Amino acid sequence: MLVNLKNILKAAEARKCAIGSFNTPNLMSIKAVIGAAEELNQPVIIMHAQVHEEMGLCKMEEMAPIMLFMAERASVPVCVHLDHGTDMDYVKRGLELGFTSVMYDGSELSVDENRANTCMIVEAAERFGASVEAEVGSMGARESGGEGGESIYTDPSLAKEFVGDTGIDALACAFGTAHGLYLTAPKLDFDRLSKINDIIDVPIVMHGGSGVSEEDYKEVIRRGVRKINYYTYMAKAGGEAVSKMSDMTFFHDIAVEAERGMRENVSEAIKVFAGLK
Ligand SMILES: [Zn+2]
Repeated sequence: MLVNLKNILKAAEARKCAIGSFNTPNLMSIKAVIGAAEELNQPVIIMHAQVHEEMGLCKMEEMAPIMLFMAERASVPVCVHLDHGTDMDYVKRGLELGFTSVMYDGSELSVDENRANTCMIVEAAERFGASVEAEVGSMGARESGGEGGESIYTDPSLAKEFVGDTGIDALACAFGTAHGLYLTAPKLDFDRLSKINDIIDVPIVMHGGSGVSEEDYKEVIRRGVRKINYYTYMAKAGGEAVSKMSDMTFFHDIAVEAERGMRENVSEAIKVFAGLK
């Protein structure tokens, strides 16, 4: 069942849990994520990231129809989300392709430019009944290799102003997580997260969500995080499963084993986010 971000996060808010949001740059990862969500009977978000197109992994035009098809026929609510759209035209193309949610990422621009562009995306998304996530503060590099030290944490009062001015449906906040593999365990600024949650009236999104400890997931969910972006450790689990294969002659066997490894990892993540363990 295809749903937008606003509605899927409303359900998360009512249940005081978080929805796992997974990048799916190929068919195996789409099947792994939706398969895990269906097995656990939990809503889920699948995402195409602009950076994955830039890295040559997959094109939005190719992925959108498959993601939408798989979401529509799923037995659980699935939101099809565009992750870190840094280019306005790219995000608008995503809306035209049918994404039910888009993230406009203007975090590398000045706050004024970020606000102005986000307003335009919110207006465009309304015409499609799609939701909008935006970001204030910065989680560092969008691709792997992000190190927490470079992050610029989200300022609570700026966050409040930004949400009020733009009318977005969810806000990505920087409070200590980073994209990519963690070289040292992340130290999260829980007080900052609570302060932001107390004064804004939209759900908070945590990026760099894979590789965080189970206790920290539970703590951020208690403090208002409702969407957790998760990819690196899922992709790593797929790679590790393949590396343990004794016979790698045929690619179709490799693909199936990668899907199994990713699905297992995603399933554990969803259980924690949904409060099932
Ligand atoms: Zn991110």
